[in-house]
Amino acid sequence: MKLTFPHLGNASFAAKAIFDGLNIDYVIPPLSNKKALQIGAYYSPEEMCLPFKIILGNYIQSIESGADTVLITGSCGPCRFGEYCELHMNILKKLGYNVDFIVIDYPKDIGIKELLNRISKISSESPINTKDKFKTLYYANKVVTLMDRIEQKTRYLAGYEINKGECKLLLHKCKSDAFECNSPQEMVQLLKKYEGAVDNIKIDKNKNPLKIAIIGEIYTILEPFSNLYIEDKLMDYGVSTKRYLYPSWWVKDAALTPLKLNSLSIKNASRKYLPYYIGGFGRECVGEAVLSQKQGLHGAIQIFPVGCMPEIVSKSILPSISKDKDFPIMSLIVDEMTGEAGFVTRIEAFLDLLERRKDYVLYGG
Ligand code: SF4
Repeated sequence: MKLTFPHLGNASFAAKAIFDGLNIDYVIPPLSNKKALQIGAYYSPEEMCLPFKIILGNYIQSIESGADTVLITGSCGPCRFGEYCELHMNILKKLGYNVDFIVIDYPKDIGIKELLNRISKISSESPINTKDKFKTLYYANKVVTLMDRIEQKTRYLAGYEINKGECKLLLHKCKSDAFECNSPQEMVQLLKKYEGAVDNIKIDKNKNPLKIAIIGEIYTILEPFSNLYIEDKLMDYGVSTKRYLYPSWWVKDAALTPLKLNSLSIKNASRKYLPYYIGGFGRECVGEAVLSQKQGLHGAIQIFPVGCMPEIVSKSILPSISKDKDFPIMSLIVDEMTGEAGFVTRIEAFLDLLERRKDYVLYGG
């Protein structure tokens, strides 16, 4: 068995840590790129959402490098994600690829017995003992928590840094070094070192940078290629960004869901505008918009793929939040046709607007 998985932001580091720790053969697809999108868009139904196409591209690039089994989380929720693996399987089969899929889903949807059955397909490939398998999971969780924390801090500190570009450089170096590690323990050590380095970044606390929340559909905010590297662009502009959804957030959310204790602050914040679960992360998007305003951010950018059903619902609610709370929110919709120049122009126009509002408040307008 040679496993592979699609990229999903920092989740790839956790997957790498698990397979290294379990000593299982695997292929990491090349970081999501134009080629992957071209391949995926070519073989996908046109109206499918962008994540489906990029993920299909990831799979095909991995299969071409020898992968024969795909590991993916499932979702039986009311949006297209629930159909992803079935459709991916059909497309790959039609293309003549002989691959197995292992879909990790919630026990409430597939039953605990079936879940254990699917997990054992992977763990039976590992030569290490049970105690070490649990240790590996522990380290993988540490890896993703540390990586997310480093990313959160560097993205926010970018607005305060004294040496321009230092935060971005450190974050990218950290990620590329992490891909070179050979064991989860080694990766944890490396990330701890980088976390220390982040704490030593020289900052000017007197600066008052723009602070913007990145909200919206989870894949397009986690996977940088799909949003045209918007957070990197904002770092270049000296803007501090805050994002609530990270892979480590997702792990915690999934673990607390059976107890109905997941994401309480986000759910509370969304209650007035969207009290129901509508699939995807539509409810989270609404809650995050409300929270960002409460936390004193200057604005929010919602990102989602063309045709994303839950985010279309949130997009229709965001103007009410914006009006009630005098809080600017811009929506950016992405697909394979999105042109970088138009995307950047909209971001710059939004930053201009926020700067003027900030100055207006500062000078008592
Ligand atoms: S949340 Fe939106 S983009 Fe993601 S799978 Fe569902 S419909 Fe597609």
